[in-house]
Amino acid sequence: MPIDTDSPRCEINGCEDRATFELHIPWKANELVCAGHARVKGRKDGIVADALENTEDEFPNGAANR
Ligand SMILES: [Zn+2]
Repeated sequence: MPIDTDSPRCEINGCEDRATFELHIPWKANELVCAGHARVKGRKDGIVADALENTEDEFPNGAANR
């Protein structure tokens, strides 16, 4: 697949994956992250991972059920 230059990139340092989730973090600004990082970060208390519209990835387990 060609790289879609309009797609946001994961904001985690050193990560070049396409951002497919937006993390809503109570104590700081929202972050756009890839599915892998959404899964890791979504486990922290209070963080909610929201799928972006163009994603085909599954929702991180447990992040949505609050
Ligand atoms: Zn990432």
